Amino acid sequence: MTTHPLFDIAGRTALVTGSSRGIGHAFARGLVEAGCTVVLNGRDPQALEKAAAELGGVGPGAASGAGAAEVHTAAFDVTDGPAVAAGIADVEERVGPLDILVNNAGMQNRAPLLEFTDDAWRQILDTNLTSAFLVGREAARRMTARGHGKIVNICSLQSEVVRPGIAPYAATKGALKMLTKGMCADWGRYGIQVNGLGPGYIETELTRPLVEDEEFSAWVRGRTPAGRWGRTEDLIGALLYLASPAADFVSGQVLYVDGGMTSVL
Ligand code: NAP
Repeated sequence: MTTHPLFDIAGRTALVTGSSRGIGHAFARGLVEAGCTVVLNGRDPQALEKAAAELGGVGPGAASGAGAAEVHTAAFDVTDGPAVAAGIADVEERVGPLDILVNNAGMQNRAPLLEFTDDAWRQILDTNLTSAFLVGREAARRMTARGHGKIVNICSLQSEVVRPGIAPYAATKGALKMLTKGMCADWGRYGIQVNGLGPGYIETELTRPLVEDEEFSAWVRGRTPAGRWGRTEDLIGALLYLASPAADFVSGQVLYVDGGMTSVL
């Protein structure tokens, strides 16, 4: 198999937050397939062990019997500052210096804005936005000292547009887009590229209620130029690109992978 060297990230070490399932797990698989050592994160250690086992036989050497890539787990809550500091220190000591960070952990809470509680507001902000600040800052403190690193923040098409019932989620994802640009502004001089990846409607546990709602599902298909829901595999190529030397002069951008949805009325 030949790959252009600009896209070669074999041997890099990557942490993907929120990778026990869904999009994060697909990102982890893609990075393992590209030859990276990958650290899975989430709050549930058992779910992480299961997710790691699923990636056990994956990796460039797996088919030839040369051995699969390394997969590690690190259970910590990305909204808890001290836990994040301890978690990143532990990962770097146990696994090695991080080359790639994917801030993917996130949640949704669909409810009319008039009924949204203070606690629910703080929880979604903590999970979708503060987490990227906490984990990003902690990883970047080490990456800046080493003079290189790639950070990819998982935004959303709701970084740009919104619909009724998801205003708090859209507020977090819009802010994450600007945090991405701010990280780019502050850390670019240290050789760190920070970009966003904005998925469209992708079938995962987070969107299961929408997928199962036939009327909504039909709306998504009709509204998307590609005419279908996205699959987690649709997002992998964009992540690998943003994590690779091919994107060494790309920073502060959000790459939307949405079947064209953000481009049409
Ligand atoms: P998901 O299936 O619900 O998975 C969320 C992951 O985040 C799980 O591994 C969960 O594990 C982890 N997590 C949640 N809170 C955490 C915390 N406080 N600390 C550590 N880990 C935490 O979600 P998904 O659909 O894959 O979404 C992943 C990302 O893509 C999110 O940022 C989401 O906003 C974004 N996105 C999704 C879509 C879509 O259509 N699905 C579209 C655009 C953007 P534990 O619960 O075990 O901690």
